[in-house]
Amino acid sequence: MKDGDAQQKGVSRRSLLKSAAAVGAVAGLSGMALNLAAPGSAEAVTKKLPQKWDETWDVVVIGSGFAGLAAAAEAAGSGAKTVILEKMPIYGGNSIINGGGYAAWDEELHLRKKKNLGEDSVKQHIQDTLKGGDFYNMPELVEIMAKEAPDALNWMINQGGAELSDVLVIGGGHTAYRAHFSKHNSGKDYTEALKKIAEKNGAKMVLNSQVTWIWRKDADPKSPVLGVEVKRGNKIVNIKAKKALILASGGFSNDVEMRLSEWPKLVKEFNCTNQKGATGEMIRYAKAVGSDALHMNFIQLFPFAEPEAGILDRPAVYAFSGPGVGIIYVSKAGKRFVNELDRRDVCAFAQIALGTKPAYAIFTDAIPPKFGGKPAEIEAGMKKGRFIKGDTIADLAKKIGAPADVLEKTINDHNKYIAEGKDAEFNKPMKKTMVPMDKGPYYALPMWPAVHHTMGGLRINTNSQVIDVFGAVIPRLYAAGEVVGGVHGSNRLGCNATTECVVFGRIAGKNGAKEKA
Ligand SMILES: Cc1cc2nc3c(=O)[nH]c(=O)nc-3n(C[C@H](O)[C@H](O)[C@H](O)COP(=O)(O)OP(=O)(O)OC[C@H]3O[C@@H](n4cnc5c(N)ncnc54)[C@H](O)[C@@H]3O)c2cc1C
Repeated sequence: MKDGDAQQKGVSRRSLLKSAAAVGAVAGLSGMALNLAAPGSAEAVTKKLPQKWDETWDVVVIGSGFAGLAAAAEAAGSGAKTVILEKMPIYGGNSIINGGGYAAWDEELHLRKKKNLGEDSVKQHIQDTLKGGDFYNMPELVEIMAKEAPDALNWMINQGGAELSDVLVIGGGHTAYRAHFSKHNSGKDYTEALKKIAEKNGAKMVLNSQVTWIWRKDADPKSPVLGVEVKRGNKIVNIKAKKALILASGGFSNDVEMRLSEWPKLVKEFNCTNQKGATGEMIRYAKAVGSDALHMNFIQLFPFAEPEAGILDRPAVYAFSGPGVGIIYVSKAGKRFVNELDRRDVCAFAQIALGTKPAYAIFTDAIPPKFGGKPAEIEAGMKKGRFIKGDTIADLAKKIGAPADVLEKTINDHNKYIAEGKDAEFNKPMKKTMVPMDKGPYYALPMWPAVHHTMGGLRINTNSQVIDVFGAVIPRLYAAGEVVGGVHGSNRLGCNATTECVVFGRIAGKNGAKEKA
């Protein structure tokens, strides 16, 4: 409901906020800071605006992942005195442990064209993203992500020295080869590049700084956010943001309570691929000062995580990157169970529906080089028990406990589908790039779904400004990256997150720096 709608119905913004307060959503409207029930407490608390500020910056960025670093780089580059506050003792969040995948329909190296991998366009990237999210996405945000994807990648290459590996992959739900990978298949390649730009532009990063509150006087649409309360060791400091506060605090996959409240099926027993700090307190604080949030129950399972601890290591990226070049997924019974090029939610729930754990990705030596996989990685993975090797299909079948004749038929049938260009079982779109598995050794990679990404979060507009529950912009408050909802709809396509974070981080940083102090 827009503010105008409320007024037409004779309901004032103030009375709505008051009734919200009654159910513990927003309380205390004047004089003091906005306040609500303290997280974890049923008691309403009153937090008074600080009498003095311990530090003052033009732009304060919360979170040191892709979105926060990109925002800080742009804000500082526009001349704003910028600080990044990070609660963990190391920088980088989920971004630094990310697999290095970045979706862009083109870049200045023109890899797709050089490799003769067919057509792609902004339009196709938008369409795939909307379809992959069941059209729940906010189209205007998707459009910006797809349009700006190449430029943001080129910026990291040119300004930050990021390097790409010489492969382009087609990921589940994408219809074109647009998944780029960084040189070392690691998000660290991008975080280091972004950090370099941010530092070169004069931004400062402070670790071990946990934001514990957002200061805003009241919920009047003209009332800006003022700053944040921060816990550093045993000390509480208040930091003023003269121009803008940018929330880039990531998702909440590791916040079991929040996860459970949004989607009760995701019990604590589910593994999680995320770093420990991927918790949702900043979303709660933003809501406490009036921010709207959307799609909070859209939470993604990564289908290919390591089955015991749920980590997303380099082998797990093989299972994601490989289907376009011939990797298949089989059950413990040795049978395929899904179109391997389908979306993550489809692949994850098809595994769970099997009723047996784990499932396996199957490939031969000829396949990994096509997506940047290296013999040394397979060697290392074998030592850790991540890859299981058999000289023949029968040998591999024995090692994973599948009937040899069934696994042989599964592999031979898939080879036939490659030759015929048609998947008679799961209607997978067969690609000319797919390699038949006709020569051993054969490998099996155990995999199982783990909680991975939260598609929901704060509502923003195309300027990355946070929108309140009445549809108005909250002055000086910006958000970018996984803390935001609405870009991916019900299901994020692989490699779109890195892109979203860098693209919207840049927008938030540029616009935040333009605010008048
Ligand atoms: C293992 C793994 C691999 C992935 N691989 C890919 C991939 O290849 N391609 C792709 O597109 N996506 C991938 N993703 C998803 C993608 O990496 C994330 O969506 C993205 O990194 C989120 O970036 P961000 O900047 O929004 O948040 P993050 O990188 O998570 O950074 C947020 C930071 O904010 C900090 N923070 C949170 N709350 C506070 C607070 N109260 N005070 C101070 N600091 C706070 C956190 O500690 C964290 O460091 C992967 C995710 C994981 C977990």
